[in-house]
Amino acid sequence: MSVTTVHAYAAPAPKAPLEATTIERRPVGANDVRIEIKFSGICHSDIHSVRDEWREGTYPMVPGHEIVGVITEVGADVTGHKVGDLGGVGCFVDSCGECVACLGGTNQYCRNGVGTYNSMGRDGKPAQGGYSTHIVVDADHVLRVPAGLDLAAAAPLLCAGITLYSPLRHWNAGPGKKVAIVGLGGLGHMGVKIAHAMGAEVTVLSQTDRKKDDAARLGADHFRATADGTVFKDLRGTFDLIINTVSAPIDLNAYLGLLKIDGTMVALGLPPEPLSINMGALIGGRKSLAGSMIGSIAETQEMLDFCAKHGVVSDIEMIRAKDINEAYERVVNSDVRYRFVIDAATFNP
Ligand code: NAP
Ligand code: ZN
Repeated sequence: MSVTTVHAYAAPAPKAPLEATTIERRPVGANDVRIEIKFSGICHSDIHSVRDEWREGTYPMVPGHEIVGVITEVGADVTGHKVGDLGGVGCFVDSCGECVACLGGTNQYCRNGVGTYNSMGRDGKPAQGGYSTHIVVDADHVLRVPAGLDLAAAAPLLCAGITLYSPLRHWNAGPGKKVAIVGLGGLGHMGVKIAHAMGAEVTVLSQTDRKKDDAARLGADHFRATADGTVFKDLRGTFDLIINTVSAPIDLNAYLGLLKIDGTMVALGLPPEPLSINMGALIGGRKSLAGSMIGSIAETQEMLDFCAKHGVVSDIEMIRAKDINEAYERVVNSDVRYRFVIDAATFNP
């Protein structure tokens, strides 16, 4: 097939609302697959990007990196996927396979990687994301979505799921480990479900009590609101691992006080502003502050298979494409329960 024109939603300029448009998808190359997108999740990173909060946006921008659908065409050299299979696409659509990151099994950190959107493709054209009816992707960057998972609720696994699975695995969340998840949004709620499935003792640290019942239902053992500050005294020295999913600046020093000796706090949230660290908060207890970004393609497949085995998917609210801008406002106001997923059929106006 040649270049195709497909329906999409794009931000025409920084901070502008998203609107219906059309974009071109490349012809299916020898190692490509074409996916008819069924569902596309809304990640807070889409909002940071569209609003140019990270100050590196290129427009028009079609966001979306939590993509699931049905494979409708495969290139001549593709062996791992066939027409009719379910396919998933996460946060990156290409990696070189040759750099130290790729050779080390961490192709999410590829030096020459291509993001699913807001990134330049190998063909010299801007990559455009999942708020669209179809996408053409290198076959080695397409995931197999297990048939047992609800397809719409599986879409957020492609970013939120792997972003939590990877650090929970890396820092050995499991039986006997006390894990705190800071922020109960899209990432946070997947963290609760996955850490619980791994057997860890899970505490949710949320701004207010509003999400307390939800946290218990999602699998949390404990819940504390952070707004009045008492938790920082009561739970001092409690956690082996703290996962910070907050999209805004918070007082990291206060949270570091909640770690045990040798404990680690992992930054996942990406607020636009730099945060300040009091070195005493690390030194007093040989603590580590770390970061983690999504996961490799192989680990994303492992996560999908883990989620299928444990019956883990996202709690979603399905929306139509024309409601994206309103949904963005609700995400920013911490009012999403717990991931918006767009019905891709509605990208066709
Ligand atoms: P989200 O659904 O908006 O969740 C963020 C949660 O943070 C909110 O639900 C809220 O939880 C808490 N929060 C928000 N503002 C806060 C504030 N001012 N003070 C304290 N807590 C606050 O967002 P998301 O999609 O999960 O993404 C979270 C962050 O991770 C974003 O910055 C995103 O760009 C980043 N991200 C990183 C990666 C990675 O690979 N590292 C991948 C995807 C996303 P409560 O209501 O419970 O307080
Ligand atoms: Zn994301």
